[in-house]
Amino acid sequence: MKFVLVIPDGVADEPQATLGKKTPLQAAHIPAMDAVAASGIVGRTDNVPASMPSGSDVGTMTLFGYDTLKYHTGRAPIEAAAQGIELNPGDWAVRCNLVTVHDGVMKSFTADQYPNNAGQALIELLQKDQCGDSHWKYHTGVSYRNLLIYRSRGTSAPFSTDTQSTPPHDITDQSVAGHLPSGPGSDDLKALMERSIELFADAPANVARRQAGELPATQTWLWGIGQRPNLQPFVERYGVRGAVITAVDLLRGMGRLIGWDVVEVEGATGYLDTDYAAKGRAAIETLSRDDVDFLVVHVEATDEASHEGETAEKVKAVESIDRDIVAPVHDWLKQQGDYRLLISPDHPTFLRTRTHSHGDCPFAMCGTGIEPNAPTTYDEVAAALSDIGFPEGHELMGRFLKIS
Ligand SMILES: [Zn+2]
Repeated sequence: MKFVLVIPDGVADEPQATLGKKTPLQAAHIPAMDAVAASGIVGRTDNVPASMPSGSDVGTMTLFGYDTLKYHTGRAPIEAAAQGIELNPGDWAVRCNLVTVHDGVMKSFTADQYPNNAGQALIELLQKDQCGDSHWKYHTGVSYRNLLIYRSRGTSAPFSTDTQSTPPHDITDQSVAGHLPSGPGSDDLKALMERSIELFADAPANVARRQAGELPATQTWLWGIGQRPNLQPFVERYGVRGAVITAVDLLRGMGRLIGWDVVEVEGATGYLDTDYAAKGRAAIETLSRDDVDFLVVHVEATDEASHEGETAEKVKAVESIDRDIVAPVHDWLKQQGDYRLLISPDHPTFLRTRTHSHGDCPFAMCGTGIEPNAPTTYDEVAAALSDIGFPEGHELMGRFLKIS
């Protein structure tokens, strides 16, 4: 038996004036997702506890069946796992964005999708500046997404679970002053951010960007701090062997932490220009393997469209997921015999606020042993009318994988 979970990241949204008061899912032409809804069950899942910031780190950990209130420590340690960076007990990982702040306002949490090679040059500047300090080590990631690791080396770190930080994508166009790190060790984090402002001001990479009329990275933004989460391997917890297809480090890291195979797909960018069809083909190839019972296909484009406030792009992205991933994968599954297919985002991402939100996500699942309920379309309104809801989102996975 094969199990598939497709995650259109952040697809859940509100009705849009420009879409005739429909949500992007309602407005989109998504016959394959609607077929899953019509032949199976539609319901609601709440993947982000009210006490935690909303994001894919919390949302996907919940979707994968782990109680985030118990297991989640921060976003950065998950990304560290993606990069193969081992965290020892006592070590801390911090996400280090390259951002553009102008006149104290967060203009871009990506420094306008800062290019890889330029980003690497800035991270090298930061690391050189750290020589002599044995605790901090910068790690270059992709584009604006980098990591900073605190190695405790037998001493006790200044941080605790009370150390708070704000995701920069939550404060686009807002003053950064009230959103700086706070709590134990936050002075160290703020000092590092301050230092980056000085180091980046005249950095050649930024000079070139300014000359080309592009946004410079004016500083780092440190957030998502945490220690290695203690997650039970998925196969031990649920008895199925997993794999994940994704273009983002966060999902790669989640996969690694719970023992999944991480499948790389050429052309998968984690952005609006991702090669959807390549992901669909890779999904079928991966599912054909004898050592994979459960596959997650994650697509970031829907979330990115929301962050950019691009309503039409969000509709287009979910239509591409429907046509190039859900449709061919479902066709293939039906030909194989027993299967189950689940579609659910990790969290809502509102076009209105351009950021992740709390609240219910619509899910649809169909396949072997699943008796259909009333809704026949896959969208927020159908889910709201459903008789099935998972206020504790981490219980959905058990329901999906339970055959009886
Ligand atoms: Zn997400």
